[in-house]
Amino acid sequence: MNMNRDKLYAQIKQFPKVDLHRHLEGSILPETFVEIARNYGGDLPAYDVETLRPLIQVSDDPPGFHNFLSKFKVFRCFYSCREAVEEVAFRAVQEAAEDSVKYLELRYSPTHFACSGRFSERDVVDWIQGALNRAGKTFDIIVVPIVTISRDYGVALAEETVTMAANLPPGFFYGLDLAGDELTNQARPFAKIFEMIKKNGLGLTIHAGEAGGAANVREAVADFHADRIGHGIWAVQDISLLEILRERNILLEVCLTSNLQTGVVSSIKSHPIKKLLEYNVPVSLNTDDPAISGIVLTDEYIRAVEELAFTMDDLKTLNRVALDHAFYPDREALKKRLYHLWD
Ligand SMILES: [Zn+2]
Repeated sequence: MNMNRDKLYAQIKQFPKVDLHRHLEGSILPETFVEIARNYGGDLPAYDVETLRPLIQVSDDPPGFHNFLSKFKVFRCFYSCREAVEEVAFRAVQEAAEDSVKYLELRYSPTHFACSGRFSERDVVDWIQGALNRAGKTFDIIVVPIVTISRDYGVALAEETVTMAANLPPGFFYGLDLAGDELTNQARPFAKIFEMIKKNGLGLTIHAGEAGGAANVREAVADFHADRIGHGIWAVQDISLLEILRERNILLEVCLTSNLQTGVVSSIKSHPIKKLLEYNVPVSLNTDDPAISGIVLTDEYIRAVEELAFTMDDLKTLNRVALDHAFYPDREALKKRLYHLWD
């Protein structure tokens, strides 16, 4: 790193940030896994950090969507007890706060942390909620949880999760996210769930137009009334869709490094984000899976500055736009509280 790079890094590190698209499952560092396994038990394919790292973190791997998703499988049934689950949730918030993230929407799948029925999903959300609340009070950050259902776990499990979530008191979840493998598993079978979520007044975000094309984004917006799209970058292939996104004010949650590592873009310089902005489609910059990608949000901003020529003013605008699309229940109060950070 040269002097200018050091200066830019320091400047952006302390720059206040919003992250709307971050998975708790993808926010757990190899160091944390090893420590938790040591303290509480838990199955890992390796118990030293450097052997574990390449199994759960993308580094020199050739880019690929399925390779990226495979990193999650390694720790699918890792958690042995309540404390282990609480610890990873607390640390994920701490790491975001240390990166000057001021508003974080953290999504997670209760099914994942329930470890194939080892725990009830109801217990899991209580544990995670408690940890997020504690972390939110300890650090200077607002945390809003989003419940993730996965295309890969199937509709029946998703229905169970969403029914459980819908019966929780207010304050647990403010939105629903559909994640998983867009290439193999369609969103259509989840349509009823989306309808239920909208009726309950929760925000809806759907991973679409990442490895798949514009048609998936159009379906998410036109048929399922998604408020935001996870990635959505290949909407850029369809100009009439870009008009719909702009008119309906649908935000695309862009994650630069993730897109590079999944191989859905060949370089940051050729990333569709510039074209999306030219068409005035709302976008935000997010991490997706910081631990799996080996990044923090600061790295994403630096990429945007160095490789896409974003200015600090552009970054301020992106953060204000992100807040305009937050799932926080009282958005106007949130804006009052945080907008001034980017004056
Ligand atoms: Zn994602």
